[in-house]
Amino acid sequence: MGAKTVDIAAPVVNWARKSALWPMTFGLACCAIEMIATGAGRFDIDRFGAGVFRPSPRQSDLIIIAGTVTLKMGPVVRRVYDQMPEPKWAIAMGACASTGGPFDSYSTMQGADRCIPIDVYIPGCPPRPEALLYGLMRLQDIIMREAPSAYIFDSDGTVHRKRQFEGEEVAVLTDAAMGLKADAALR
Ligand code: SF4
Repeated sequence: MGAKTVDIAAPVVNWARKSALWPMTFGLACCAIEMIATGAGRFDIDRFGAGVFRPSPRQSDLIIIAGTVTLKMGPVVRRVYDQMPEPKWAIAMGACASTGGPFDSYSTMQGADRCIPIDVYIPGCPPRPEALLYGLMRLQDIIMREAPSAYIFDSDGTVHRKRQFEGEEVAVLTDAAMGLKADAALR
């Protein structure tokens, strides 16, 4: 079975994937409270098939970076992300996770994209649960445009994320790209 055969079934595979996202139970700061509220009855993230928060990265395919990422926490976020099986996606929730937010300081990573590839950025400090749901719907749009074969074929072991939009270069993550010094104690 080749890549083309897999991609013929892409609409069905992508529909199944976007309709059953399992987010990681993971929060870093105040934005996490809004993420928790999104899972409660008033907003009910289950309506979008993403309500099964998992206690282990090995059972998750979505990580929502909800809160401030410090430089010390960056390698840990990366390690948790690496433990998630493919296919996997990431949402940066709030100003801190997207850009460092108000903390242009020595200790704060200026955006979670310095340690993991981010699919959707949600602005706000904090974003309301509706904003997270909107971001989730945009992620579902992205998933519907993916080529499922990209996760099965051509894996050379150096790429953490292979998505196949036309003309898009695949990002290879390195410590230098993250702006981090390797910290053996945290890896
Ligand atoms: S964006 Fe605002 S609410 Fe969210 S973690 Fe940063 S300071 Fe807290």
